Order: sequence, then structure tokens, then C-alpha cells
Amino acid sequence: MPERCLKCGENTMHERIAQMQHVQGSRTVLIENDRHMFCESCGNVSYLGDQISQIELTVARKIREEDGLLPPQDLKAIRLKYNLTQAEMEQLISAGPKTWVRWERGKVVQSKVADTLIRQIAEQPDLVRSLLSRSGVASAAAQQVLAAIDEDVERQVAEMMRQRLGPNPAVDIEMLVRDTAEAIRRSQREVTARIVRAA
Ligand SMILES: [Zn+2]
Repeated sequence: MPERCLKCGENTMHERIAQMQHVQGSRTVLIENDRHMFCESCGNVSYLGDQISQIELTVARKIREEDGLLPPQDLKAIRLKYNLTQAEMEQLISAGPKTWVRWERGKVVQSKVADTLIRQIAEQPDLVRSLLSRSGVASAAAQQVLAAIDEDVERQVAEMMRQRLGPNPAVDIEMLVRDTAEAIRRSQREVTARIVRAA
């Protein structure tokens, strides 16, 4: 059943699926199976109801694929890995309110710079520790995750040392590993600070 076209007034508007170009900022995105309303009389194209929501998601997905950016489900998985809320994530990376919310919903695409930072966050608990303190996000849940990761790492290193040192070693391996891990973290910060000053 054709509908009335708001541009020319003819009752020749119907839904069709066709290839369409979408301009998003400075780029043009080509969508193969674009579902929209099309007027046979004047060529007017418009999007109604769920077509709007669908095309927003499709254009965003195409941009992510072309630029090799993380999909929304990965953003969510990385956030949940550290037990952070969406608002905490926004504060952590200095993004505006609701920015992370929109990225996870899939209609807005994160920048390449943000994507790089998020990948680093996924791989480096120490970066998250630093960002938490820098951004002032007080998340006990995230601190618990970081503490659990530290314990896990220390357990693995202790196990390796036990194998090297054999039974009944003369040192308290757990204490040694804990002290060493803390010393390495502290030294890294101090050495890095010196390098920055010398530059
Ligand atoms: Zn028309």
C-alpha cells in the first residue's frame, strides 16, 4: 500500500531495499541492502520508525568494519572484565557523559584514538590502575578485580620459582614474589619519571 510523499504530495511512496550512500561527517559509507521509503514520482528517500534505528546501526557497523574498530560487544566485555559501570568508563577515559553508553548501544562509533586506548585497557591492568587513580573513579569492584589479577600473576610466578628452587627452599617464595612484584612496579614508575624529566 503506497503512502503519500511529503515532498511532492503524490501517493507513490513505498518501502524498498536498495544500495544507498550515507554521508557521515567527512566520509561516505555505501550500504548495500538499505531499507527505506522511496517515492516513484520524485525520487524522495526517507526513513521511518524502525528503518531509522536500523540504518544508524548499519552505518556504524560498516564504519567499524572499515576502520577495524572494536564492536560494541567487545567494548562491553572489556568494561565488565574490570567490573566498571558505563559512567565510570566514561570518567576513566575522559569521555563525555553517555559517550560510552552510545558506543555500547552501537549507533555511535568510537574514534581510532579511543579504540587504541580501549585495547590497551583490555590488555594492561596496570594502565587501568593508573587511570583509576588519575580520573578519581573510586570503584571498589574494579580494585578487587585488579587485586585478583595481581594475586593470580604472583601465584603463577611463585609456582615457577618453586619448580626452579626444588623442595624446602631457604626463602619464603610467596613473600619474595610479592615484594619483587611491588618493587618492579615502583621501579618502572621511578625510571619512567626520570626519562620524562631528561627529555
Ligand atoms: Zn515524491
